[in-house]
Amino acid sequence: MDSTRYDVVIIGGGAAGLSAATTLARALRSVLVIDSGTPRNAPAAGVHGYLSRDGMNPRELLTIGRSEVLSYGGTVLDGEAVSARRTPYGFEVVLGDTRRFSARRLLVTTGLTDELPPIDGLREQWGKGVVHCPYCHGWEIRGQRIGVLGTGPLSVHQALLFRQWSRDITLFLNDTVEPTIEEWDKLAARSVTVVDGAVASVDAVDGVLTGLTLRQGPSFDLQALAVGTRMEARSALLESLGVSSQVHPSGAGRFIETDAMGATAVRGVYAAGNVSNIMAQVITAAAEGVMTGARINADLIEEESRRAVEGHFGPFAAASEAAVSKIVLGHRRHGLDDLQKTADMGTTTTAQRESA
Ligand SMILES: Cc1cc2nc3c(=O)[nH]c(=O)nc-3n(C[C@H](O)[C@H](O)[C@H](O)COP(=O)(O)OP(=O)(O)OC[C@H]3O[C@@H](n4cnc5c(N)ncnc54)[C@H](O)[C@@H]3O)c2cc1C
Repeated sequence: MDSTRYDVVIIGGGAAGLSAATTLARALRSVLVIDSGTPRNAPAAGVHGYLSRDGMNPRELLTIGRSEVLSYGGTVLDGEAVSARRTPYGFEVVLGDTRRFSARRLLVTTGLTDELPPIDGLREQWGKGVVHCPYCHGWEIRGQRIGVLGTGPLSVHQALLFRQWSRDITLFLNDTVEPTIEEWDKLAARSVTVVDGAVASVDAVDGVLTGLTLRQGPSFDLQALAVGTRMEARSALLESLGVSSQVHPSGAGRFIETDAMGATAVRGVYAAGNVSNIMAQVITAAAEGVMTGARINADLIEEESRRAVEGHFGPFAAASEAAVSKIVLGHRRHGLDDLQKTADMGTTTTAQRESA
């Protein structure tokens, strides 16, 4: 087999990409996964909410996923895909180190980037003392003194959400959030403390978050800080193939639109996981990978069946015969006339008979 030609190349070897690769390899497809090794949840200690894998280290989950792909004959390469283009074969993907691979179908599972607010000390705590998703981290920080950093219109919602996990919630408006009257009522009714003023720094001692300090001076003790990030699909390769990203309806970022099975608006190009669903958790991304892998296999089967018919019957295939007879006979084709022409011919014949 040509080691640079595959049925499917998958760009991105996170939960979505590896699940799709396993599905395709088990369908006896030649599949290559290219992965640059920066999954979104890399800073986290464990994956939560994944049935049967709860708390597993994110790297360990992916190591097991890779070995499953390999066990069914799939290939996984470390590297970064820097460009992709359409070719007569399908697509060509080029890596940063100039390696090139061809694929009949392309699946992009590159995930998303969490854009963090530029506040001193915040990035260092990302995935540790600074969290974003209560379903990923809520249990671990339940009952603690939790701050919510105002980053946009969804911050009030985030404060009310984390209130489910702790009675001690402080929303820092950060000169960014202006709650509506209705939101003020909800925050008061749920005993959420609200603090005005811009946040200058996130503070830590020995790598453990201790609180934050406002630009005007006062510091606040906290055990965890929730931050809504701007979630930007890692979509550069898709955009270069003509698949545009869209603003997410929530306003929380940008995503790639697909149909329910992962097909983008560009033929032969698919997407799954966080790149097309910014709300997807690990198990959701994995499930989307499985579904999109099956959809790509169906697409290949459709193409192969069509080619097989052409190969088997050649010019005598039903579709070829119909096309030829249409050209040669037009509306006189036996048994293939459309209803309108039949009706027209019938009218003419009757009229001719009447005038005769
Ligand atoms: C701090 C944190 C903690 C989280 N904790 C949890 C949790 O406990 N439970 C949970 O369910 N979810 C959690 N999540 C969400 C989780 O990270 C995502 O749901 C999941 O990573 C989505 O999987 P994915 O395969 O779509 O993308 P990713 O896991 O991000 O994988 C994308 C892969 O594509 C690769 N890639 C990108 N561009 C290229 C390129 N050009 N060429 C080659 N490779 C490329 C990247 O290196 C990466 O490996 C957490 C997120 C964060 C930020």
